[in-house]
Amino acid sequence: MNRFDAAIVGAGPAGSAAAICLARRGYAVALIDKAVFPRDKLCGDFLNPAGWNLFGRLGIRDALLASDHQKVTAFRVSTASAEALIPFTRVFGVGMRRRAFDDLLVKQAVAEGALLYEGVKPSALERESGCWKLRGENGSGEREFFARLVIGADGRNSWTAQRLGAITAQSRPGRFVGFQLNLTGCRVPAGEIQIHAFPGGYAGVMALGGGAANLSFAIDRTIAREQPIDAIVANHFSKNLHLHETVAPSTIAAVRSIYPLDFAPRRRYGDGFLLAGDAARVTEPVTGEGVYFALRSGELAAAAADAALTRGDVSARQLAAYDAACRGALARRQAVNRLIRALILRPYLMAPLMRLKTKNNFPINRLVDEVCRAEP
Ligand SMILES: Cc1cc2nc3c(=O)[nH]c(=O)nc-3n(C[C@H](O)[C@H](O)[C@H](O)COP(=O)(O)OP(=O)(O)OC[C@H]3O[C@@H](n4cnc5c(N)ncnc54)[C@H](O)[C@@H]3O)c2cc1C
Repeated sequence: MNRFDAAIVGAGPAGSAAAICLARRGYAVALIDKAVFPRDKLCGDFLNPAGWNLFGRLGIRDALLASDHQKVTAFRVSTASAEALIPFTRVFGVGMRRRAFDDLLVKQAVAEGALLYEGVKPSALERESGCWKLRGENGSGEREFFARLVIGADGRNSWTAQRLGAITAQSRPGRFVGFQLNLTGCRVPAGEIQIHAFPGGYAGVMALGGGAANLSFAIDRTIAREQPIDAIVANHFSKNLHLHETVAPSTIAAVRSIYPLDFAPRRRYGDGFLLAGDAARVTEPVTGEGVYFALRSGELAAAAADAALTRGDVSARQLAAYDAACRGALARRQAVNRLIRALILRPYLMAPLMRLKTKNNFPINRLVDEVCRAEP
């Protein structure tokens, strides 16, 4: 029971998607996570409409719609001097706690035949006779996994990527720290995902029903280092009245933070391994697409792994096709993400762009359409 075709480290969206696709094709898959599910996850809790067809392919669409969720039909964007509500065209997104969404995915991976090892923290990874030997520890002791291929899907601070030497000087982290706060007694209108620019960063607000909302924000790490949350809310959020009025009546609880918020792409394949999701690349959460990127790269990693395992060739040369597939599938969205990030961090450019909307419905609506369209 310890020999597998693929050992997947990390059972978030990227790892679970890869596990679902590989187990469905009949491969023996070990899905290993240091956490025990359901577990909380720092996130804005918005599922971009881009994912609908993918949710269907992964077999979670019906379960998702049957779960407690909020239907999201518009983006509200604000700067200190402008505000716009931009409805989605013919699609809707979802507001849902990651604890619940990720649990759906893990359950689906198990239903497809993957073996889930929760609460297991990998401690060593080495090649032995052309095969990977991965050692992991849980509360009660050590266990070993042998696998032909390893998929690292263990998030932005990926142990696997570090272990495999995939983190280079070019993948140094950027300047922002991410926070997530739970709000109660909040008056955020249902059905919207909100993005607010403020000096030094930007915030996203997602109503989750019953007066609860998720406030996640990115802020320059020098500010985060010097000021506590209360001071950030008072000194920075108040510079954008739209954001201030959204947050002011609420009670703030459960502060979580994460660093780095972004970094340049890492080398996402090598001899016998692939990296998927945030382990390979993090785009800033400004457009709420991180889960989509993770799921899609997990699906593409599974396709590349399938081709390599079928040929009996898991060399870097064979696995290079994965890199090309990711670029082909995701490059356009990543470019739009970079453009929107650049605008949000420059409100003096963003505000006139938003006002242009009242004249001819263009170009801010066009940008939202690009971000919130369903992918094939
Ligand atoms: C502030 C903020 C707000 C965001 N808001 C949104 C949003 O609204 N919508 C959206 O789509 N995206 C959002 N994102 C991005 C999104 O959270 C990520 O892109 C997404 O979670 C990536 O999925 P993943 O599977 O690659 O990694 P993760 O979701 O990080 O999953 C990694 C898994 O690996 C496990 N793990 C970690 N280390 C180890 C280890 N050493 N051994 C074993 N297991 C390990 C973890 O327990 C976890 O289960 C946001 C990000 C931030 C920082």
